[in-house]
Amino acid sequence: MALLVYKFGGTSVGSAERIKAVADKVKKAQDSGNQLVVVLSAMSGETNRLIALAKQMQSQPTEREMDVLISTGEQVTVALLAMALHDLGCEAISYTGAQVKILTDSSFTKARIRKIDDAKLRKDLDAGKVVVVAGFQGVDELGNITTLGRGGSDTTAVAIAAALKADECHIYTDVDGVYTTDPRVEPKARRLDHITFEEMLEMASLGSKVLQIRSVEFAGKYNVALRVLSSFKEGNGTLITYEDTQMESALISGIAFNRDEAKLTITGVPDLPGIAYKILGPIAEANIEVDMIVQNIADDATTDFTFTVDRKDYQRALAILEQTCADLGARKVTGDNTIVKVSIVGVGMRSHAGIASTMFKTLAEEGINIRMIATSEIKISVVVDEKYLELAVRALHAAFELDKISA
Ligand code: ASP
Ligand code: MG
Repeated sequence: MALLVYKFGGTSVGSAERIKAVADKVKKAQDSGNQLVVVLSAMSGETNRLIALAKQMQSQPTEREMDVLISTGEQVTVALLAMALHDLGCEAISYTGAQVKILTDSSFTKARIRKIDDAKLRKDLDAGKVVVVAGFQGVDELGNITTLGRGGSDTTAVAIAAALKADECHIYTDVDGVYTTDPRVEPKARRLDHITFEEMLEMASLGSKVLQIRSVEFAGKYNVALRVLSSFKEGNGTLITYEDTQMESALISGIAFNRDEAKLTITGVPDLPGIAYKILGPIAEANIEVDMIVQNIADDATTDFTFTVDRKDYQRALAILEQTCADLGARKVTGDNTIVKVSIVGVGMRSHAGIASTMFKTLAEEGINIRMIATSEIKISVVVDEKYLELAVRALHAAFELDKISA
């Protein structure tokens, strides 16, 4: 007997028919002797619909109320699934995040889970029930409803799996696993049987939208074996675990990209201690996340400083930087919000030289100009003009033979 947490995404519960299909799958797993907690997303499109409604009321909706609103989507699906299970003669009970008591901090719309009360879940499981939990939401100390950020149901599932020390956490979605890159950009992309937490974390933070980043962090921290698989197609999906020394690891596991990038440059900044702080401090205070940062060597007494932000924060960051430019007596501010980031990811990079030069050579042969470069132990990212995104991804996919090797 295994204790399993299953999570179904929006498309998997997108209609009455699909919810019934989920119920069948869950019943089958229970009939084969497993204990099951099922975490659900809202029906596909529902969260977006609710957000659009909110914006008709208030251009910047009050965040607390936003959470009261957008947490309702998941409440609908969990109740419906419990009903569908009852109809199959399966004992099941649905809970909202607050009812379980998924305790979070009070950062509305992007709350973090602090603690999960597993007592109620265990009691129901021991009584032979399937427990159906609304994903994406929790409750703070004061009893306010909170939500965990877009895609947060993944995190709910992993957090519950960690709290219950579940045997595996299955994320059922509309793709049948994690791919070497987005198949919509490179049709030759291949499903990976296995990927490490570290690689998955990079892939997720670099723009592969299969799993919410936080869910991967959580799974790595608590060593929850995570499997991504299709709701609609049989198969083993992709298993995400710690690096296995037995495994022949590929040089590069995948190519991630992010279209939502923008870069800003401030030139002619006096080259003095504290400059990076003076430039990035106000950006951080405005709650704008900075990704890549490049500071040039100063040849006169001034330096240039470039960084990237999410495209949605571009205008705000630009305004702040103009102000900083005036304050510092720097030369000027320029920006570009038509750039993208393309990254190659792989733990194999640690033990192999020459990966970076293969990447740069490949891009050069396609005539793609690299605007910025950043590296870490297991990834290399480049910023290029957005018009080259598809070409860059395909060329790199071919250069690292991702369509061929089995990882
Ligand atoms: N329904 C939420 C969203 O669309 C959470 C989730 O699906 O994971 O972002
Ligand atoms: Mg999702």
